[in-house]
Amino acid sequence: MVRKRRVVVAGASLANVRTARALRDRGFDGEVVLVGAERCLPYDRPPLSKQLLAGKVDPGDIQLLSREEAEALDLDLRLGCRASSLDPARRVLELDTGEPLRYDGLVIATGSAPRMPAGWDALAGVHVLRTADDALALRSALVGSPRVAVVGGGFVGCEVASTARGLGCDVTLIEPLVAPMARVLGDEIALDIAGMALDAGVRLCCGAAVERLEGSERVERVHLTDGSVVHADAVVVGIGARPVTDWLSGSGVRVTDGVVCDEHCATSAPDVYAAGDVARWRNPLFGRDMRIEHWTNASEQGAFVARTLLEGRQHGGYAPVPFAWSDQHGVKLQIAGVPDPSDRVRIVEGSVAERRFVAVYQREERLSGVLAVNSPRAMITYRRRFAQEGGFAEQADGRLAASPVA
Ligand SMILES: Cc1cc2nc3c(=O)[nH]c(=O)nc-3n(C[C@H](O)[C@H](O)[C@H](O)COP(=O)(O)OP(=O)(O)OC[C@H]3O[C@@H](n4cnc5c(N)ncnc54)[C@H](O)[C@@H]3O)c2cc1C
Repeated sequence: MVRKRRVVVAGASLANVRTARALRDRGFDGEVVLVGAERCLPYDRPPLSKQLLAGKVDPGDIQLLSREEAEALDLDLRLGCRASSLDPARRVLELDTGEPLRYDGLVIATGSAPRMPAGWDALAGVHVLRTADDALALRSALVGSPRVAVVGGGFVGCEVASTARGLGCDVTLIEPLVAPMARVLGDEIALDIAGMALDAGVRLCCGAAVERLEGSERVERVHLTDGSVVHADAVVVGIGARPVTDWLSGSGVRVTDGVVCDEHCATSAPDVYAAGDVARWRNPLFGRDMRIEHWTNASEQGAFVARTLLEGRQHGGYAPVPFAWSDQHGVKLQIAGVPDPSDRVRIVEGSVAERRFVAVYQREERLSGVLAVNSPRAMITYRRRFAQEGGFAEQADGRLAASPVA
């Protein structure tokens, strides 16, 4: 009997659900095995800081894959078990159950995990937000309008602050830079957007980092480096995430802040690819290595890898325009490209006062990024142009070379 080809995907979340679906859509009739550390069916993470945290939906509403669909796609789901080691020479992925899984192709999409400074989680009432269980635990902690300190003004921290405030909590957001999201958007625009949080009643403590958490058993106080103290019944730590690659140690697969891949998302091991938050690959459109922790990339990269597994290297490689969105205080922020805080930035449409504007970021006369605030139509056009041209030049009169709005 001829043995069927087997594709194993490590990590059963967005990137790998997309890989599995794309394999079947493209007619792959071999075995597809999804190995996932979480016991539940794969689910979507963006609602964790928004609708699920707000109590507007439940975990069953945010599934990425149902049992019926898994059966229809003939997927072998191994949930509640971890990939624990990899032997690329023998083409074997070992599970923490001790089972060796032979593969013809392997996709690594083990995502990222929240950072937590040593000792902070020894106190009750200190939360992170990565999984549905985390979100449900935090949702319970937000009942009764407690005082909430959110540590870190990145996207997740800002969204948690927004949702907690919407639930009537007394919220303080702590960010060492001048304003939340300044690391991505730069000081000027981040300060403009901070006004939305202030208007919603979020207290901002910017310019100082957290020195230590204090409390007896439960967290009670957050001490900042400028000597100030924030009193809190719950603390949410949103200081970024690290790629989950520890299980690859000893495998020989190259890892440097993510699984290192070429422009085809191929790792240093034969027939082993990576996708999603865990992958660091060379984006040919920008000519640089990237690791992106956003939904659209995980989805597109998962599908790209499936195609490459079946059809071989794709002309042009994996060359997306990075894209992310965030919902805060009733406003939709969308970001495309790779804006850098040191880029020149200006608002080309709308205004901060209207809470509807488009800001463009430019580096050496090239468009490096776009922020659209409540302006989804403009964003569609900018994304298209980015994909076609990888940024475009400014005319002598200061306008962009082509009108971005269709
Ligand atoms: C609270 C929150 C809100 C977000 N909101 C937005 C948003 O509004 N917009 C946006 O663009 N992006 C958002 N994101 C980011 C987006 O959800 C992620 O980029 C996306 O989930 C990445 O998918 P992934 O499949 O690469 O990894 P993940 O979703 O992290 O999944 C990885 C999976 O692998 C499992 N795993 C880990 N190690 C192993 C192992 N050894 N063996 C087996 N399985 C393992 C993990 O348990 C996990 O289930 C948000 C993320 C979070 C956490």
